[in-house]
Amino acid sequence: MKTIGIIGGMSWESSALYYKNINELTRRKLGGLHSAKMLLSSVNFAEIERLQHQGDWHKLGEILAIEAKRLEQAQADFILIATNTMHKVADIVQNAVNIPLLHIADATAKELVRQNYQKIGFIGTRYSMEEDFYIKRLEGLYGLEVITPAKQDRDEIHRIIYEELCLGEIRPESRKTYIDIVNRLQAAGAEAVIEGCTEITLLLKQEHVTVPLFDTTLIHTKAAVDEALSSI
Ligand code: GLU
Repeated sequence: MKTIGIIGGMSWESSALYYKNINELTRRKLGGLHSAKMLLSSVNFAEIERLQHQGDWHKLGEILAIEAKRLEQAQADFILIATNTMHKVADIVQNAVNIPLLHIADATAKELVRQNYQKIGFIGTRYSMEEDFYIKRLEGLYGLEVITPAKQDRDEIHRIIYEELCLGEIRPESRKTYIDIVNRLQAAGAEAVIEGCTEITLLLKQEHVTVPLFDTTLIHTKAAVDEALSSI
């Protein structure tokens, strides 16, 4: 079994899901008392959020690169960045180490392509929805057509992530907001919707909407377990 290295804490609410999912999926595959070999390097999200807000992605890249090196030195076989947004600095992190980074957008896109979806809705932080690093990767490398919510909806999705979900607050009125936005994406032609932020699955689940949801937290952890068990 390979050892999974996780750069987490962004926020820890979703890193806790990574830890749980990875162990559950490992037990499901191997049975009995099997659990995953995992290393978690968890940052202080207040520092990360402040630098995001200031637009200092260079510094953010440096911080995550240090965490990646720490995991490599501790004998991780490969690395996950347990947030979609921070994949904006994925190249810096990958270039800092000699072990592979398992990119969350690649894992998600492969699953969408495998299930023959083409036109996809995407919800996540404003960084992920409005900048190129994530959506262009889905479109350029995998031929997906990606649509995002209108500006007002994007602002509200972003606000709820940072002011509620990353603090562990799950509010019915915010769930209603997300349901309405996802339904609008479906009405605009989305055949499936990516939950492109690792905390969204805490709020919005498949039972709340009819359009198929692609939970990046679950997909990323599944891909990690497949990789970890590929050597046995
Ligand atoms: N976990 C979130 C994501 O997947 C947002 C928090 C962050 O800025 O990393 O994008």
